[in-house]
Amino acid sequence: MIVEKEYLPRLVFWETTKGCNLRCIHCRATALDHMSPDDLSTREGFDLLDQIRSFSRPIIVLSGGEPLYRKDIFDIASYGTEKGLRMVLATNGTMVTKEIAKKIVDSGIKRVSISIDGGKAGTHDDFRKIPGSFDEAMRGFSNLKELGMSLQINTTIAKHNYKELPEILDLALRLGVDALHTFLLVPVGCGVDIAEDQMVPADEYEAILNWFYDRSKDVMIDLKATCAPHYFRVRAQRILEEKKGGIKPQPFVAPGTRLKAGHVDTITCEGIMGDGKAHNASGLSAMTKGCLAGTGICFISNKGDVYPCGYLPVTAGNVRTTPFEAIWRDSKLFANLRDPGLLTGKCGICEYKHICEGCRARAYAVTGDYLSEEPFCSFEPKGQAALHEVHQLHQEAEEELPGLRMTWSDEAKTQLKKVPFFVRKKVAGRIEEFASSNHIDVIDPDVMSRARAVGERG
Ligand code: SF4
Ligand code: SF4
Repeated sequence: MIVEKEYLPRLVFWETTKGCNLRCIHCRATALDHMSPDDLSTREGFDLLDQIRSFSRPIIVLSGGEPLYRKDIFDIASYGTEKGLRMVLATNGTMVTKEIAKKIVDSGIKRVSISIDGGKAGTHDDFRKIPGSFDEAMRGFSNLKELGMSLQINTTIAKHNYKELPEILDLALRLGVDALHTFLLVPVGCGVDIAEDQMVPADEYEAILNWFYDRSKDVMIDLKATCAPHYFRVRAQRILEEKKGGIKPQPFVAPGTRLKAGHVDTITCEGIMGDGKAHNASGLSAMTKGCLAGTGICFISNKGDVYPCGYLPVTAGNVRTTPFEAIWRDSKLFANLRDPGLLTGKCGICEYKHICEGCRARAYAVTGDYLSEEPFCSFEPKGQAALHEVHQLHQEAEEELPGLRMTWSDEAKTQLKKVPFFVRKKVAGRIEEFASSNHIDVIDPDVMSRARAVGERG
């Protein structure tokens, strides 16, 4: 019997408003200096969160424009938190005074990401078009840090700043953030106008992604190349090379990067401990693939239009007229994106397409066809012959068990292997903590269920 894979949203980006106080030249949203009457109302927002929660439990990213422009943003965040959703906030940081920071914390927001587009104030301010915005963002970080908020830097990589990446990473380490996520510029929104001169050529991207892989192994934060799907191919290639050089294969998420970011893992881990099945299914596929548009993530515009992601301007429906679940499950657009067999060009024949898929938005921007090949990848596919090796390596990584302190029965170990590898260590740790505090010597499936039940309650 063929079991159909269930796709559930893991991350839902909601553009709560287009209103924003900055005018960044790469902005996807083409920001307005006021809220739009088209923005989903508070009531519609609550309803949207209910609809999402009715069949899934993704992380909700409240974004914009500038989400802090919305007067009801904390009501929305609190509402989602009460419903058991993990609410996170994506802001430019400039409006985060001490008072706002407190409200963010009180509304149950689990993490705040702030966009920083340069290692130096001047680079960031030039891009943001507002002098002083770098310093204000720094003040935002510090106000949130004082209250213990989990923090993330989001950086859009383009020609003007890619040479400052090491400085941006140093800044992230100095600020003590939990994660640095870099986005490859996608030519949409205002980005279309600057794409020509700001897009980093494919070869330079290759060098950046290799640098990223090297640093991801030695820094104590979660370092993620977001919307650079071919990073997964680069990483797989590097692991293959290392394996040939006698270095033990590791999961595609290098140990000590994602697992070092305690907050991220708490978020993901709770999902697995809570309603394992759904999160397990979507989480695993989500985290082992480069482009997640329409498979693990989606974007809801300020007017309620649902897109595979915020950079792919093809809509799957509108939540004002169609329930979100129906759009997520039944949209032809999403079905197409879930089928790598439909990819064309070199992505279509690429041995890495199942873990990469190329950026569908960049493909669309350049050709008008979201299933065509990623234009900013320099890799030349080698076809089926290489596929077996990639698959085998992947399997090896998937089957690795983390170092276990306690005795686990064979059944328990088998069950542990079914937990997505990027949270396996964390889950094992929690179960061992539970067993140890209950004076249990051997961990078996029953102990695992009891630990899970405690996780669900807590
Ligand atoms: S299409 Fe995929 S890789 Fe490209 S911007 Fe969207 S989510 Fe990111
Ligand atoms: S050719 Fe396409 S699928 Fe293959 S690595 Fe490049 S972007 Fe990814």
